[in-house]
Amino acid sequence: MDHDRDKELEDLDRRLIWHPFTQMKDYMKEVPLIVQRGDGSYLIDIFGRKYLDGISSLWVTLHGHRKKEIDDAIRDQLERVAHSTLLGISNVSAIELAGELIEIAPSGLKKVFYSDNGSTAVEIAIKIAFQFSKQKKNGRSKHTFLSFTNAYHGDTIGSVSLGGIDLFHEIYGPLLFPVLRAPYPYCYRCPQEKSYPSCGMECLNRVEHILSAHHEEIAALVIEPMIQGAAGMITSPKGYLKEIRELTKKYRVLLIADEVATGFGRTGRMFACEHEAISPDILCLAKGITGGYLPLAATLTTEEIFNAFLGEYEEKKTFFHGHSYTGNPLACAAAVANLRVMKEERVLEKLQGKIQFLSEALKGYRELEHVGDIRQLGMMVGIELVVDKTTKEEYLFEDQIGIKVIKEARRRGLILRPLGNVIVLMPPLGISLDELNEILSITYDSIKRVTEDG
Ligand code: PMP
Repeated sequence: MDHDRDKELEDLDRRLIWHPFTQMKDYMKEVPLIVQRGDGSYLIDIFGRKYLDGISSLWVTLHGHRKKEIDDAIRDQLERVAHSTLLGISNVSAIELAGELIEIAPSGLKKVFYSDNGSTAVEIAIKIAFQFSKQKKNGRSKHTFLSFTNAYHGDTIGSVSLGGIDLFHEIYGPLLFPVLRAPYPYCYRCPQEKSYPSCGMECLNRVEHILSAHHEEIAALVIEPMIQGAAGMITSPKGYLKEIRELTKKYRVLLIADEVATGFGRTGRMFACEHEAISPDILCLAKGITGGYLPLAATLTTEEIFNAFLGEYEEKKTFFHGHSYTGNPLACAAAVANLRVMKEERVLEKLQGKIQFLSEALKGYRELEHVGDIRQLGMMVGIELVVDKTTKEEYLFEDQIGIKVIKEARRRGLILRPLGNVIVLMPPLGISLDELNEILSITYDSIKRVTEDG
């Protein structure tokens, strides 16, 4: 590409594109990173500079960029049809994928409702749970939800209503429906100032208290199982998720597991629910479903939930929800290919060594003066930076400490994205040990440089 065209792209980007989760005033002052192509664990910009993709292009890429099998599957599908609706008719790859999903999903999940991103997967779960309760109880609906502090379920109004991250969600307060909220076990900053396991997971009492008082009104409890992603990779203590499942059963409240971030091997298992051998009533999937290729999501439900929507046409029990691109054949073909690669290349088996390598290497980070906590589940890592390790004093928002670290990492050839003061590592599952090592050493040096050398 010629130099003038490169400059023009930079100029057009600054002038025309409004980037998500980005303060555009700052962005417009900087030289943008414009990706032109990808290759395995690398992204390459218009100047030919290579960057390791340390966050799997926002937690989606599984086997790396330009994975031949997925490229081919999309091309193959393109030879047949790019899109046809799922409203009232079907398509081959959507059917094939549904079969694959049900086969690998936690037991009891039997039906697949497609959409095209994580937020809509959650939005659909909310509407299904609400309508289910109404149709089950002959008109008496359960009209609220129980979600967690620091929860993140997407950016549409329904999913924002469930959300608990003030920075992202508070401003929309007047637009949101009210939900009940339980504390998620953020053990590093436990509000009760207890520590696990001696605490006996006291925080579960609060969940039970809310359920016992409000179960008649709660359509579903919604959780990011095992780890809250956007909150800063907050891992829940062992046994917590199982207890949550038991409580929802006891109080006859549906459990919605939002595995948009954790699904498809990200945590070392196909689904995070498997870590504690639980099955939700509704499962939300997106991100990694296509191996990081095309927008696709799926909301899986039990037969019991599905059956509550069956009725005579005039009973109006139909689920009146659907998007233009629901069940898009190209995206479904990519997802089928992704699952085939996972199986044939024994991705989950091979991943275990990488997870182990990652956790060993992260131990060395503890010596850094401003690393307060390191949390890891599989290939999801959060490194929480603090002003002072003993007091756990937080960096101020305006310090932009996370942003400074990722800028430093970018200069060294690594793309990262922080969550406030937490540096996130989320490499593609297909990454090599050498590349992983490179990510770890650039991240270490960048944190040290920014927090210790000023
Ligand atoms: N749920 C969870 C747990 C997520 O992490 C995300 C995205 N990070 C979403 C939902 C929303 O997904 P999307 O960005 O595809 O709408």
